[in-house]
Amino acid sequence: MIDLVTRREWGARAPRGSYGRLSSTRGVKVHYTGGHVSPDIVGDHARCVALVRSIQNHHMDGNGWIDVGYSMLVCPHRKVFEGRGPKHVPAANGSGLNSGHYAVLGMVGDTGLTEPPDDMLHGIVDAIEYLREKGGAGREVKGHRDGYSTTCPGDRLYRWVKAGARRPDVPEEKPVEVVVRDGVALWPGRVLELVDPMMRGEDVRAWQARLARRGWRIGVDGWYGSQSRTVCRSWQRAVGLPVTGKVDEATWESTWSWTKPSADEKD
Ligand SMILES: [Zn+2]
Ligand SMILES: [Zn+2]
Repeated sequence: MIDLVTRREWGARAPRGSYGRLSSTRGVKVHYTGGHVSPDIVGDHARCVALVRSIQNHHMDGNGWIDVGYSMLVCPHRKVFEGRGPKHVPAANGSGLNSGHYAVLGMVGDTGLTEPPDDMLHGIVDAIEYLREKGGAGREVKGHRDGYSTTCPGDRLYRWVKAGARRPDVPEEKPVEVVVRDGVALWPGRVLELVDPMMRGEDVRAWQARLARRGWRIGVDGWYGSQSRTVCRSWQRAVGLPVTGKVDEATWESTWSWTKPSADEKD
């Protein structure tokens, strides 16, 4: 549930012109404030509001933009400030890159507050989901530095973006135990597939580890992401099972039992 701070609530200045319109985008780009962000904002939300206003002033008076450049701005208190909002072209991504992605800011810098608190990460995901729902944002989540020369959104936020921009501490829906007998892991009883939110668990990890030992290029992280699906499809093709990209019982068992009659199992 998004905790939205409307422009009226944060005392935004009116835009100086009319926004370019968007009906959809490929996704969202994540930004940071850069420079120094006072850690004091964590203890005092009024300072977050002041920071948002100063960013707007800087963008309008310093950069000469018609309004704050971001679509939405997120503070450490999981509050999402309305910037230009959905359906409007942002200005923060760099020339030529603004109609492709909305722009969401996390209020961390290079010094002072550099680690995004969990509530800020939740807020960024809240903003992304809001832009998908209200603004036709696509599935992509990227950093400002993707396709543009900048340090933004900082190493810490960028790592998080590259890792899938997931909510922090997503618990496993229910812990799955993997029973191994004579070196063979028993079918855990659920089909592994790429869904949103992503499936995660020891069964995923065990299956990935088995394929990695077989020499397949696959990350062993316990998340069933697009790489796992791709490898699953190739595996199914290699062993002659229906190519579904889903690890069902037959696929699971083949991962342990299958041996190629001739030399190399990877064709
Ligand atoms: Zn940026
Ligand atoms: Zn705040």
